[in-house]
Amino acid sequence: MLDRLLTGVSPEIGRILEAALDKRELTVRDASLLLSAEGADFFALLRAADLARSEDNGDDVSFVVTRNINFTNVCYVGCTFCGFARHRDEADAYDHPLEVLLEKARDAVARGATELCIQGGIHPNKDHHHYRDILLAIKRERAHFRILQGHEALAAASLLQGGDGMVPGMANLAPALFVSLQAAADRGAAAECARLQQQVTAIARIYQQGPWLSALKAACAMLGLGNGRPAPPLAPAVPAAREAIAALLDEAGLGAAVGATHCR
Ligand code: SF4
Repeated sequence: MLDRLLTGVSPEIGRILEAALDKRELTVRDASLLLSAEGADFFALLRAADLARSEDNGDDVSFVVTRNINFTNVCYVGCTFCGFARHRDEADAYDHPLEVLLEKARDAVARGATELCIQGGIHPNKDHHHYRDILLAIKRERAHFRILQGHEALAAASLLQGGDGMVPGMANLAPALFVSLQAAADRGAAAECARLQQQVTAIARIYQQGPWLSALKAACAMLGLGNGRPAPPLAPAVPAAREAIAALLDEAGLGAAVGATHCR
């Protein structure tokens, strides 16, 4: 079975897939190579993943009942691919009050939801106080709900206010930084959180180098993660943006300038 699966696969990808199916832990470099797999390597990766899945779970199917609750569709970021965001003066712009969010959460739970994703645009008039209000209101009703947020600008504030964790895009680039921030918040070390937040804010300037997703993909590619190409209709970061991203990564001590011209 394994021989058939690895037919026509490059030796290095074959070695990695064999190790994975043997339940040996992959290195970061191995995982990064798999992210770049193409052609026969890519199809072997899919078959290996399916084989591992079937060994673990057979044909059982599992799922989570989840609901996305959007608190506002007002957003000033302006991603070119976005069909969700509205200017606050547009007729169909909305900004739900807390009671509406809670009602939607109750309705979702009554229908069997075990997971809620609280999402929204980046509203020009909302800051960490709004996040805290949502967090406290939900925790009052469902203390066991885990509440995560992804906006880098609110990282330290949301953790210090009782948030359970983060799902920030920049953690792809600097995971240790976010782990340190979480640990500092867990200790209630506000000054250290403030210092680490400055580093997070500095590295998050990468988002400003073009469409944020293109910029994030380019930065990841410079660190050896993926090929730097976002899914169409987004285009890869242009050369000037890649130069700026490489400089920001260098400034953050991630030493990526050498990769600035490598992502296409
Ligand atoms: S940040 Fe999100 S909501 Fe705002 S424009 Fe971009 S994709 Fe749309």
